[in-house]
Parts: sequence; structure tokens; C-alpha cells
Amino acid sequence: MPNDNATAEPHFSAPIVRFAPSPNGLLHIGHAKSAMLNWRFAKAHGGTFLLRIEDIDTTRARPEFEAAIMGDLEWLGISWPKPVRRQSEHFADYEAALSELRKLGLLYPAFLSRAEIAARMADIEKSGKAWPRDPDGAPHYPGNDRLLSSSERDRKIASGAPHAWRLDMQAALEGLGAELTWSELGSGPAGETGQIKADPGAWGDVILARRDVPASYHLSVTVDDALQTVTDVIRGEDLFAATSVHRLLQQLLGLPAPLYHHHGLVRDSRGRKLSKSDGATSIASLRQQGATQGEILTLAGLPPSG
Ligand code: GLU
Repeated sequence: MPNDNATAEPHFSAPIVRFAPSPNGLLHIGHAKSAMLNWRFAKAHGGTFLLRIEDIDTTRARPEFEAAIMGDLEWLGISWPKPVRRQSEHFADYEAALSELRKLGLLYPAFLSRAEIAARMADIEKSGKAWPRDPDGAPHYPGNDRLLSSSERDRKIASGAPHAWRLDMQAALEGLGAELTWSELGSGPAGETGQIKADPGAWGDVILARRDVPASYHLSVTVDDALQTVTDVIRGEDLFAATSVHRLLQQLLGLPAPLYHHHGLVRDSRGRKLSKSDGATSIASLRQQGATQGEILTLAGLPPSG
């Protein structure tokens, strides 16, 4: 595959990479590919491979999935320093980042529930008005809580109204000086490579702390990559567009930018990306059927060794 050059020369003498699964299901062949590209990159360049458990969604994360993930990785011949970083044990780090952004005046409490957002979107669609959607297809936040006065916000919060915390994207972009870019050593879904211009505005007012969880994927991944001094982020091209948000947060929080190597996804026979809910492509079930490590890597489109 043309865009799987995640083994390009590193720019650091001892790169630090991470494989960061969420323990809400079994790993599939696509995860095997990502984990192995990270592992081989670390091995080839005298670097370190970290395993990070992205379990901020404590309602979906399960210890048995974490154990299965570790078992599959070990079976693939991968090892990592222990203890692993488990995001659910570090909410204070994400809170510290939120509080910096709050001080910069870039966060606002957003009070609309999912159902209320859906209802507003239905109204907007009925009226035939065009409404922006983010690169994952989700509508930009249709509420106008950004405009609430600080006393009104405080009053609602004090009354116990559930709320998420969203980034005021417009304000964040206004404060940016130079153009925001990242170094892409792999490539995006349309073959994008080299210096990529970030487009965080496409995401709208992203959620940085959820109603039910005091963090979000974008926030925790950005904070952790910096805290763990990750030099090279090697991950699937489905996260290529999200890199724009990560670069923006790095810029706002004064964090360094790693190099990015996005790689092509493993797809099923109908061209769809694999899903954790489809047990047939899980490493565990293939192992049970007697597949060897080399066979799994071949299914993942990787050479069996090297
Ligand atoms: N936890 C994310 C996932 O399982 C991966 C995050 C990343 O590699 O940036 O999809």
C-alpha cells in the first residue's frame, strides 16, 4: 500500500511511539497493523514502544478487554514498559489542561443534551438551512451557550444543570499567530503528505470535557502524547483529520508537536473499515481458529517479519 511508509526515517535519535487502544472491545486486524507498525518503528530506530490504555469512557471500558488486548499484543511478540498509563487514573492532568484553557477564556459550558442537539438539528434541516458538519459527519454545536454571560453560566452550573465543556473555536483561531501545520510522514486518506495545513475550524466547537466524563478523546490524547514525550504518532488514517484539533490544542497549551505517520486502514471484503463489534476479524477469534502471527500480519497487509 502506497501510504504505509510509517517506517520512514525518524527525526529523533531515540523515538518514543505509543499504541493507544480503548478497552471497549477486542483488537482486530487493523489494530494488529497499527501496533506492529509502531513496534517495528521503535525496534528499527532504537526507540521505545509504549502501550497506553485510553479508558476515559469508564462506562464502556472493561478490564477483561484490557487483559485481552495485552494478551493479543504479547502473542504478536510486542512488549512495553510497565506500568502502563491508564487514562482513567489521570483525570487530574486533563483537568489541569482544561483549567489553562478556561483561564484563556476559550472554554464554555454547553448545556444542550444529545437529544436537544438532535431536535435542533431536525428543525434546522426542516427549514432547509445548510448547517456545517465536522470531518466525522457530526453537526457543529447548534446551541448558543457561547454567548451566555459569565454570571448566567455560573448560575446554571450552580443550579446543577448538566453540561459539557466546549472549545470556543472562533476565539481559539483568532488568537493563533502563524499558520498551523504538522509534519506528515505517512499520509492521509487522499494521499496528503509532507507539511499539512491544519484546519481545526472544520471541527467547530469541539467537546473537551463530556457531560459524563471530565475529559474527551481530543484533550486526553493531546495531553498524554506530550506528558509521555511521544515523538512519533503512528495511527490509522481515520484520525488524520483529528490531527488538526490536536495541533490546535498543542499550540494553545504550549505543548510540542510530535511527527505524525498515518497509515492506511485494513478493510473488509466490501471496503468497510473493520469494527470492534464485528467479532470475526478479532485477533482473539483468529487465534482461536489456529491462525499464526505471520498469518495475522499478512491479513493486515504487512510482511511477516521486519
Ligand atoms: N484510542 C484511540 C482509538 O482506539 C486511538 C488514539 C490515537 O491513536 O490517537 O481509536
